[in-house]
Amino acid sequence: MSNNDDCLLSVESLRAYHTTKRGILRAVDDVSFKLKRGEALGIFGESGAGKSSIALSILGLFNDLSRFYASSSGDEKSKRLWQLYDKAKSAGKRFEDLDQELPGVWGNIIFDGKDLLSLTEKEMRKIRGNEITYVPQGLAGSLNPYTEIELQTAEALWAHDDDDILWEKEVARRVLEVLDLVEIGDVDIRKTLKPGEFSLGEDQRILIAMALIMQPKLMIADEPTTAVDVGVQRRILDAIALAREKMNLALILISNNQGTIAQSVEKVAVMSAGKFMEFGDVTTVFKRPGHPFTRAFIMSNPPMELIRKIREKGMRIRGIPGSLPDMVNPPSGCPFHPRCKFAIDTCRSEIPEFREVESEHWVACHRYEELPAMEF
Ligand code: SF4
Repeated sequence: MSNNDDCLLSVESLRAYHTTKRGILRAVDDVSFKLKRGEALGIFGESGAGKSSIALSILGLFNDLSRFYASSSGDEKSKRLWQLYDKAKSAGKRFEDLDQELPGVWGNIIFDGKDLLSLTEKEMRKIRGNEITYVPQGLAGSLNPYTEIELQTAEALWAHDDDDILWEKEVARRVLEVLDLVEIGDVDIRKTLKPGEFSLGEDQRILIAMALIMQPKLMIADEPTTAVDVGVQRRILDAIALAREKMNLALILISNNQGTIAQSVEKVAVMSAGKFMEFGDVTTVFKRPGHPFTRAFIMSNPPMELIRKIREKGMRIRGIPGSLPDMVNPPSGCPFHPRCKFAIDTCRSEIPEFREVESEHWVACHRYEELPAMEF
C-alpha cells in the first residue's frame, strides 16, 4: 500500500490455510501490504485473528507448523491435502489455478527483491534470523535458563558465520553493543548471568537484543509487551524505538494493545477473521476509525488516556458482542456482519471490497460513507 521504490517487503494476496478435521481453516485470507525500509507497521486485532500467521508466513515457518498440527491430529484427509499442496507447488500452480482449496501459504512475499515463497529451506535459513528476525510472544522456551546471556545473544552470529570469518573479539563487541542498546545495565559485569537472574522486562529486552545482533533489515515482534506492567512496557518499546533509529530497521509489531501500537508505528492494519478490515496511518485509524470493527475493538479495551474521553462523550466501554467468526465456516459476506450493529442485507451476502476511502486509508465496509462520524 505504498508506491515507494524503497519498498523492503511486499505481501500480495497472502493466504495461509491450515487443515482441520472440520475442513480448511483460513488463518490469513487474502491480505496485501507493503513496507518501506525503516518503516513500522502495526498489526492490531483480536487473538485468533491471524496476526501471528502473517508473521509465520513471512518467516517461512507456517507450513512446517501447520503440517505438524496435521500429522499429530492423525487425520488422513489433512495428510492427503498436504500431499496435493506439494504436488500443486511443484507444478508451479498459483492459488487462482486450484480447483479446490488447499492448505499452506499462497500468494507473493517479496523481501528485498527476493521471492520468499520460492526459496528452498536452506536459502530461507540464510534470511531468517539474519535479515529478518523475530521476537516471539512470551518468554517461555525462548531463552535457555542454563546459558549465560552473553553466549545466547551471540548464537545467531556464530550460526550465520558460514565462511568462518568472525573473531571472538568482534562477537564480544557486538554482544555488548546490542545489550547496551536495549539498556541492560552494568552489562560488562552482568553479561555472564543467566536469564533467571534478570527481571522479566530485562529478559524481554535480551530477546530483542538477540533479534538485533545480526543488524536485520526487518524485525517482527509478536506481542512483545504481553504480561508486563506499564513501566516495563515503556522500556521495551523504547528499546525497539532506539534500535529502529540506529539501524534503519523496519518493524512489524503485532499486538492487541492499542497503546503499544500507537507508541511504536507509523501505519496500522486492523485485522479480524484472517482479513484486514482497515489500514492507514496510525493517527487516522485510531483517532477517526472508519470500520465498525475497529471502532468496536477500540471501545472494548481502550488505553487509559482514551477512557476519560469515551466517558465524556457519554459512551460506554463494552466488549464486542458475539464471538470470533468460525474460520472453517466463515459467515457469508462481511465476516463482521454477525456482530455489526450497522449490518444490512448486502453485508450478509457480499464480501466488502478493501478500498481506499481517502488518501492512504483503506476500509473494507459496504457502508463506510453512511456511518456516523466517530472521533476519539
Ligand atoms: S460491511 Fe456491513 S457488516 Fe461489515 S462492517 Fe460494514 S456495515 Fe458492518
